[in-house]
Amino acid sequence: MEQFSGKAVFPGIVFGKALLFTKPDLQVDSSPSSNPDAEWQAFQQAVREADTQLGILFEKTRTELGEEKAMIVGIQRMMLEDGDFLEAVERMIQRDAARAAHAVDQAGKQFYELFASMDDAYMRARAPDIADVFRRLTAILLAAETDFSLTEPAILIAEDLSPGDILTLDRKLIRAFVTCGGSLNSHTAILARILNIPLIVQTNIPLDRRLDGQYAVVDGYNGVIYLEPDAETEALLEEEQRKHDAERAALESLRGISAVTRDGRRIELAANISGIADLDAVLDNGAESIGLFRSEFLFLGRQDYPGEDEQFEVYRAAAVVMKGRRVVVRTLDIGADKQAPYFGLKKEENPALGLRAVRVCFLQPKVFKTQLRAIYRASAWGNIAILFPMIASIRELRKCREFAAEARAELVEQGLTPGEVEMGIMIETPAAALCAEELAREADFFSVGTNDLTQYTLAMDRQNPRLEPFMDTHHPAILRLLAMTAEGAARAGIRVGICGELAADPEMTRQFIDMGYEELSVAPSLIPEMRKRIREL
Ligand code: PEP
Ligand code: MG
Repeated sequence: MEQFSGKAVFPGIVFGKALLFTKPDLQVDSSPSSNPDAEWQAFQQAVREADTQLGILFEKTRTELGEEKAMIVGIQRMMLEDGDFLEAVERMIQRDAARAAHAVDQAGKQFYELFASMDDAYMRARAPDIADVFRRLTAILLAAETDFSLTEPAILIAEDLSPGDILTLDRKLIRAFVTCGGSLNSHTAILARILNIPLIVQTNIPLDRRLDGQYAVVDGYNGVIYLEPDAETEALLEEEQRKHDAERAALESLRGISAVTRDGRRIELAANISGIADLDAVLDNGAESIGLFRSEFLFLGRQDYPGEDEQFEVYRAAAVVMKGRRVVVRTLDIGADKQAPYFGLKKEENPALGLRAVRVCFLQPKVFKTQLRAIYRASAWGNIAILFPMIASIRELRKCREFAAEARAELVEQGLTPGEVEMGIMIETPAAALCAEELAREADFFSVGTNDLTQYTLAMDRQNPRLEPFMDTHHPAILRLLAMTAEGAARAGIRVGICGELAADPEMTRQFIDMGYEELSVAPSLIPEMRKRIREL
């Protein structure tokens, strides 16, 4: 038996096969070749192989996702026949004695830049697809695998995982995640909580192919992974699991009962979700509403923007399932650690302080309005509210409202009759908390994002695990900003809640209630325990 430890992010004890999650780092040799003709032949062979692979992918995409999505693969196939591309590679191989993989890699970078800098937004959004073809060709030339796929249930072990990586996998097959890097406040951690999948970060496990297929047990309570555990350890862990299952079952008796403190303060317990796959967990755990639907997760782990109809179906499904209870859809918060390559966002020195959330939406109005139209259309099916992320000024709130009004007017012009939808803002920048009173006069409600509010108040990157020892989430500055936000909301008579991870912190619940917070929105699986705690306060 071997055991490795790290920090537990989300609890649970799971048993299963370990699997190393890797994305090959394609090492391209830039030294000259002594046989250009052989390189050219290898290139032509790789083009044929890539075309065959893409042909299969084209058919699969057409059957599963329709003609429009399949066109993206079609464009990739066309790239393989592009005269300029073939000429550039031939020149590098024949004239400069470049190896085929190096020539493809270089040409790929040039073409990526060319597409990424085009004026036309559609063409710009094709840049990552183009990069993908070149990566596929290079991988064929280097005989490496291009994608990781999960075919059976597994405990995934990785250096680190992005939210996009997780979303490309079949979540039903993921038993647990164990990473060497990773932080407690990243969106990967948040996603693991929402998906109810145990996660341990910052482990000392060696990332080695010999892990594949080993029997493992993840103890997400204590942050330990055991490989090939002995019978005694396994029995102890099984016993531990039974104990936790029994505790959870006992919470069932409180289902349907309101979260009211002994002194009569009622708190709405809402759920944070990342997509409609989480709706079962929302109902199973008895959430009263959805306090935060992180809509950007719909945009991750895919090759292209979800269209208006696709988004409409998703928001509508949430509204219908919640049967008149509130569903707060947060508009796109793309950027920072939530990247979708097709947005064509340039690499930034300080992405958390860069183009993110409404800032991206203002620069890509078509994308913003498509989403707003989809939300308005879905609002006819239930009780939907809109939440704008990363607001730092009243000007931004007004601009968001203008976009919403335009989106609504477009629907009216099309003959639809969308109703009015409440529009709230995230309070997650110190600027917004400090201006809470003014913002409250023009927003319909506030939801505090303590994850970002902490990062921006303390000037500490939430992604950086080395800052965790310094990250004081109960810092008086944060508590003062939280109190100011609640006061601003109270003065204007608008509703105020918290949807950041701090909302689930048992040490803070009493203070939040005393400050005037009416709603706490947390990962669905945390709701039963919170209900019990609030009733004991
Ligand atoms: C927050 O910042 O607290 C929040 C809820 O938003 P996100 O974690 O998605 O940035
Ligand atoms: Mg945030």
